[in-house]
Amino acid sequence: MAYKIGIDIGGTKIESAVLDSQNNILFRERVSTESHFGSDHILNQISIIYNMAADSINREIHTLGVGTPGSISKKTNFLQNSNTQCLNGLPLKLILEERFNKSLVIENDANCFTLAEAILGAGKKYEFVFGVIMGTGCGGGFVMDKKLRPGPQHLSGEWGHSIINPDGPNCYCGKRGCIETYISGGGLERIIKDNLNLEISASDFLNKDQHNKEEQAILNNFYKNFGVALSNIVNIIDPDVIVLGGGLSNHSALYNIGLDRVYDNIFCDDPNIPILKNNLGDSSGVVGAALIGI
Ligand SMILES: [Zn+2]
Repeated sequence: MAYKIGIDIGGTKIESAVLDSQNNILFRERVSTESHFGSDHILNQISIIYNMAADSINREIHTLGVGTPGSISKKTNFLQNSNTQCLNGLPLKLILEERFNKSLVIENDANCFTLAEAILGAGKKYEFVFGVIMGTGCGGGFVMDKKLRPGPQHLSGEWGHSIINPDGPNCYCGKRGCIETYISGGGLERIIKDNLNLEISASDFLNKDQHNKEEQAILNNFYKNFGVALSNIVNIIDPDVIVLGGGLSNHSALYNIGLDRVYDNIFCDDPNIPILKNNLGDSSGVVGAALIGI
């Protein structure tokens, strides 16, 4: 039986999981990323968590997949656009293959999320799944017939950097008014700070029992922008389902008020696309990494 090992490199923790041939999770462990110690330390943490997973199956034959923010540049083989910035510019795939003496696949973490939800989670009944992550930033992925479709530029799913206001706030990507600057956790926190001079996490703000008039106005704008952002996805590619992940996906009003705002902008007289909360919770990243392994 071939096992599948997945590793998910996050900004605060690095996880591994082992799946059996039926995709049951046999083993799962995590270590801290401790990125302030630099890239060599992170690579050692990755080795530790990989060896724990491999030892748990007595180093029997297995595939290996790695999920990370960002992507491997086709031009340079270097990791780019990761928010664990000390890893950017490293040939991460080659380094890990040398360390583990093994071929592996590296994939964007939001793509891993979408694949896991499409195969084992909220999207498993559907052919065409669009995954949306609303966390610190906004990411996503696109799965057709249980396969990732990253596109020739490895770009598909990057809805968070579509521009909804060319004169809007600066985004770290260098553009202005990206969706991420409005409806990610970081974007919403900036809006709250700028308008209310209030330091509060986006999740705490969304889930407050009561919102005063100014807060309600921000909330209404948040739902409106959520509706614009997701209806644009639907109008362009019309997926069978959208599955939400990331910290803000726990906000229950996204699935009724937010859904209504999406339907307001769909170019169709009878919109009915389901927008579902993920099923796998914080397992989706590491499970998706295991599913893409070779
Ligand atoms: Zn951007």
